Parts: sequence; structure tokens; C-alpha cells
Amino acid sequence: MKKRLPFGLLGSEIQPGKGARLTLEVAKLHTNTPIQIPVIVQHARKKGPTILLLAGLHGDEINGIEIVRQMIKKGWNKPSYGTVICIPVFNIFGFLNLSREFPDGRDLNRSFPGTKNGSLASQFAYLFMKEIAPLADVIIDFHTGASQRNNYPQTRADFKDKKAKELCDVFAAPFTIDSGLLSKSIRNAVTKIGKKYILFEGGKANRIDDFIVNRGIDGTKRVMQQLGMRHFDIASPESPSVVIKSSKWIRASNSGIFNLRVKNGVFVTKGTILGIISDPYGKFERSVKAPMDCYVFNVNEMPLVNKGDALFHVGR
Ligand SMILES: [Zn+2]
Repeated sequence: MKKRLPFGLLGSEIQPGKGARLTLEVAKLHTNTPIQIPVIVQHARKKGPTILLLAGLHGDEINGIEIVRQMIKKGWNKPSYGTVICIPVFNIFGFLNLSREFPDGRDLNRSFPGTKNGSLASQFAYLFMKEIAPLADVIIDFHTGASQRNNYPQTRADFKDKKAKELCDVFAAPFTIDSGLLSKSIRNAVTKIGKKYILFEGGKANRIDDFIVNRGIDGTKRVMQQLGMRHFDIASPESPSVVIKSSKWIRASNSGIFNLRVKNGVFVTKGTILGIISDPYGKFERSVKAPMDCYVFNVNEMPLVNKGDALFHVGR
């Protein structure tokens, strides 16, 4: 039998059946401290695909970091076939600062594919596209809602991309949402170079939620199993994934105090009161109603809102 080759990454060679913790060296802080991003690799003895588990692209989105951490801690990142690359904290600047963005205020997810001498975020994106992305066949990228906007566990794909949709079906999150590619996003950049990509969204920033983490882990295992990388004992999802083909944001019609009246993830009929906006002095109350029969898969948990703020993401 032909001897299995080592896996080359970031100037290192990982032998079949072995793992390694490598570092992606990006830049230096203003303290001159080098910024190093740990990259954890497990290379099986037997041939198979390469999957990349990526979290913390937004530094305050902790659920994904916890998903990848548990995958590593419990040894679920050790494949029988193929290779698993884990990057638990991608935007380490944001992680240190408890912030979504880079120190220069840029959103890494609007900086792809990046340039060698661009902004810090752009350099980051460039290095990732050069050193890591080409090695992966499949990428799972873990996110949460921004700030107080709580996403019910969901994967998103452009349904015109059949392969991406198929992978979302395998992942089987409670919701699967049709969503177009945003320019300069990582999803756009890696899709363009032919990678299969799953965007997972669950929970909200700066919070760990076990329900979300477990949905993310189960989905990841299902994908690894489907790719033939290893066997897992995973229960089937409690209910089949709800596929959302058209969605809309419901925004605040007034500024005021917001009382949430509906549970995230539920189906509501047209006219159901989803929340109440009131002023703090007992003068007015306005109800926020469902504009149609729809599922609610993102709710705003911030009790103070301004007119125009996104309150709910709904769809059918
Ligand atoms: Zn994010």
C-alpha cells in the first residue's frame, strides 16, 4: 500500500496519525508583542477530506469558540480519515478587547479576500486566504448575533449553491436560511475558490449558551460523519430543520423600552404580539405584531431601543 503523506501547513509537516498545535503569525500589537493565532491540526492515518472549524472571526462571539474548544478537548477533532484544522479564536484582537471588530474598527468579515499591505484586518484575511483556506475542502464558520440580537441556531447558505445547501441539510440546525453572499465576506471569498462553506449562527455576543453550543457540536459531527471522516453516536435532531426561503427584519416603530413577548424559534400567526414598546413615564404603549404567519429566528434582547432598531428576524 502507498504510504500516506504528511500534511503540510504553516511550514510544518504533520505525520499521519499525529496532531500539532501551530501558530499563524499575523502582526504585532503596539506593545511590540507578536500576535499568534493557535491552529490545531489532527491528521489521520487514512486518506480523506480536510475540514476547517473556524470560530471567533468576530471577537465577542463566544459560543463558536466554545463549540470548537469542546471539539478539541473531547478529542472529536481526531478523524479516522482525513484532516481536521481548528482555529478556535480567529480574531484574537477582538477577543482580547471583548469586541466584534479589529482595533482599527474594521469588520474582518468585510475585509476578504484581503491584501498583503492593506489594513490590519485586510492583512489577516489575506494570510488566511493564502495559508489556510486552500488546504480545506469544507469550512464551518461559527457566529452569533451581534450584541443583544439572539439567533436561534441556524445555518445559512445561498440556496442557488446546491452543495452549500446540501451541507446545511446534513448539519440539520433547527433553521436553514436562504441568504445571499455578501461582498467581501469570508463566505464569498472561500466560495469563489471552490470551497464548501457552512455559516452557523447561534446565540448572541459575549455569552455562552449550552443549548446553542450543543446544536453546533451535533451539526459539526453530522457533517464530519457524512464526509466519512469518522463515526459519531449522535441522536437525530428533535425535529427536522425548518427551511426559510424568504425572511425580513421587523424594526422598532418608536424609541422606548422594549418588552419581548415571544420565545425565540417559535412559529407565530399574523397579528401575534411579539413585543411591546413603551415610554418610561406610563404614557404610551405600542405593540409589535407579526406581519404574516412566520417563524421567529432572531430576537432583540436589549430592553432599550431606538426607532429603526432591528427587533426580530422572521421568515417562512
Ligand atoms: Zn459574526
